[in-house]
Amino acid sequence: MPELLNRFTSRIVLAELTIHLFLMVLLLLLVIPRIENNYRQQFINHAYIDAQRTAGLIAQEPERPYQLIDALNNGDLVHAELVHPAPDSRSDPAFGDNNDSVFYVATPLSLGATKYTLHIAYDERPTSQLIADTRNAGFIIAAIYLLSATLITSLLGPVLSRPLQQLSAAARKIAAGLSTERLEVRTPIIEINTLATDLEHMRRELVNQGEALSAREARIRAIMDNVVDALITLDEQGLIQSFNLAAERIFGYDAKEVVGQDIDMLFTSPFYSSYKARIQKNAASPDQPQSLEILGRRKDGSTFNLEASLSEMCQIEGCLSIVVCRDITDRKQSEMELKSLQEDLERRVIKRTRELATVNKELQHQALHDALTELPNRALLQDRLQQATRTAKRDGHALALMLMDLDRFKEINDTLGHHYGDLLLQQVAVRMRSALRDSDTVARLGGDEFAVLLPIIQHRDQAEHAAKKIIEAMSPPFSLEGQQFHVGISIGIALYPKDGEESVHLMRRADVAMYVAKRSQIGYTFYDPSQDLHSVSRLAMVGELRRALEAAQLKLHYQPTADLRKHQITGVEALVRWDHPQKGSIMPDEFIPLAEHTGLIKPLTVFVLNEALHQAHLWNNSGLYLRMAVNLSARSLHDPDLVTHVASSLDRWNIPAEQLQMEITESAIMEDPIRAMTTLTKLHRMGVKLSIDDFGTGYSSLMYLKQLPVEEIKIDKSFVKDMLINNEDKVIVRSTIDLAHNMGHQVIAEGVDNEAALELLREMGCDLAQGYYIGTPMTASALPGWLKHTSWKPNTTPITDFSRDSIAV
Ligand code: C2E
Ligand code: CA
Ligand code: CA
Repeated sequence: MPELLNRFTSRIVLAELTIHLFLMVLLLLLVIPRIENNYRQQFINHAYIDAQRTAGLIAQEPERPYQLIDALNNGDLVHAELVHPAPDSRSDPAFGDNNDSVFYVATPLSLGATKYTLHIAYDERPTSQLIADTRNAGFIIAAIYLLSATLITSLLGPVLSRPLQQLSAAARKIAAGLSTERLEVRTPIIEINTLATDLEHMRRELVNQGEALSAREARIRAIMDNVVDALITLDEQGLIQSFNLAAERIFGYDAKEVVGQDIDMLFTSPFYSSYKARIQKNAASPDQPQSLEILGRRKDGSTFNLEASLSEMCQIEGCLSIVVCRDITDRKQSEMELKSLQEDLERRVIKRTRELATVNKELQHQALHDALTELPNRALLQDRLQQATRTAKRDGHALALMLMDLDRFKEINDTLGHHYGDLLLQQVAVRMRSALRDSDTVARLGGDEFAVLLPIIQHRDQAEHAAKKIIEAMSPPFSLEGQQFHVGISIGIALYPKDGEESVHLMRRADVAMYVAKRSQIGYTFYDPSQDLHSVSRLAMVGELRRALEAAQLKLHYQPTADLRKHQITGVEALVRWDHPQKGSIMPDEFIPLAEHTGLIKPLTVFVLNEALHQAHLWNNSGLYLRMAVNLSARSLHDPDLVTHVASSLDRWNIPAEQLQMEITESAIMEDPIRAMTTLTKLHRMGVKLSIDDFGTGYSSLMYLKQLPVEEIKIDKSFVKDMLINNEDKVIVRSTIDLAHNMGHQVIAEGVDNEAALELLREMGCDLAQGYYIGTPMTASALPGWLKHTSWKPNTTPITDFSRDSIAV
């Protein structure tokens, strides 16, 4: 019932009825009675007025009142009568009462003097009828009104409520999810239409928003479902609100199984509370990583490693925690594998490093040591030398660097073969090493070159002492294949800081000194700047020597050679001198090596050849026939143009080839025996006589020399000079003479500077002799004068062939 009353139509109808009932009551209680009353009053008034008028009329015609009354009674008067005097009881002023249908009016009337009362009865029925009709009409009208109003209202109610119902029905449907339901009504009522339009607008907005929201939700859901990490949202109590697909996969639960459950069920240890505490603790430093590694528990009870992080998201409705979990089983596994791999790798690297270190050590040793002798090599020497110079500089002491070269090594190597050469080098190394202290470095620089570093010396005597010890160690013969060999050594010594402060300078200067030692056959020498080919003065000298060649500053001196049997001067040796404008006469030992080093030896040889043959030509013309000996350096021997020069010079001065003799040292030949052999053969074929100079200083066996097209052996002056005091030298000289003779060579001894020597040589059967005792080197112009005063006879027969007369067979 109340529901019915709450309905819109019911309420309108009810309101309608209430209003109209009220109006009807008003009509029936106020209007209709008033109309009735009005009608009644009108009737009464009309009755009274009519009664008055009638009374007046009667009064005017008193004679015939009754006719008049009769006349009146014919009208609406029901009855009229004159009553004398007092009013009749029938007089009834009230209308409608007594239900008599008559209204009596009593009007006093004086007819003449008689007082009457005129009673007129008016028929009140028409008026009553009118009143009744009016009342009825009123009722009818009210009823019709009421009915029609109710009808209209009840008709109008639904008209109003239907669209609303439609709207509400549509709204219900929308609410039920039929968001496509349109909020449309067909009604002429503008307000409802507007309302419907607005609601529809609202619906669309809501639909749009809803769609956007659901799209977003769908997206979020899709994202949540597609992330590989488990995403779990929690409420403030730590209860699971959502659980994405990854979470389902990782933990093995269905979302619906865990939603509403405590998050800690997913872990082996309390996660939520401890994490919360952690967040609070780290609140001061929010940058700290928030993830932790924890053991997760799957639905089947198995545990696994996972990395979990928790973040809070607070909004107006409250806070939400998002837990992100990642299964790190694989990662842990990989980490462990990686760790084991790493450990394995480390072990292998350590092992390999050790191996490499060993190999490296070996390589380092190899890189820094000579494979043959096991001595430090050049690189190590350089290194030690540098260190030693630094230490010497710091501590203020001196050091010595010695470079040395074996004197006959190349010949042994070439003659006996590399195998013996190597054996010799090994023996040399052992001897050197044992001759020196352990603190000294003995190095092999290559070939037959060795070096010794004395890192600390107090005085140069110490270096000298060491050099002597090395020479001494070398003096016993070396035994190779049962044969005994003597190997000399030349040592050059450079001192720090006197000769240089840099290792490179010391090396070079020791080398210079060694070269000097080797050339002068004196065993060892200290560096002397005046002998340094590389020194500034030496460089200047090269230029000067070149100019000297052009400016004819080079002069030849001639040293006679005597035939011991004929007691005759049969030849001269051309020895070059340099008449330096400032320095005076410079001896060949000073500039020949320089010329050899710079290539000037070639023009120098050409000059000497030409000059000597010119002189021979002059002497020949004067009837003095002397064999002209010219020295050939190794360089010249290898000059392909030499033979041509010789031929053209001979030709130029018309000298028979036999009158020319060329002196070549053993070592010059042994430098390159094959090429030497070629040149020597050519010269020999031309007729030029060949002599082995400085014989005995190099290593060349006579057997080897036998193959050479030489005619003469020139015993080195070092043997000749010492043969009187040194029996060994004497033996050498004697055996050389004998052997040379046996091989068909002529023998000449040089450096004969005393009579005894000359006598001994003569006794030994030496063919020729040369030396200060016979004659010093002299100018060409001095020779004829000298010849006049000497006991030696000059040769006055033209030389056509090498005289074999002197050879003792
Ligand atoms: P060498 O060919 O052995 O010449 C002999 C050297 O011994 C000469 O020295 C000579 O003066 C010297 N001498 C001669 N008799 C004696 C003596 O009784 N006692 C002593 N102690 N020495 C004596 P020099 O003239 O100073 O020549 C030195 C070297 O220079 C020569 O040695 C030779 O190898 C070289 N030489 C000289 N002139 C020339 C040349 O024109 N061309 C070439 N390539 N080398 C030359
Ligand atoms: Ca010579
Ligand atoms: Ca000589």
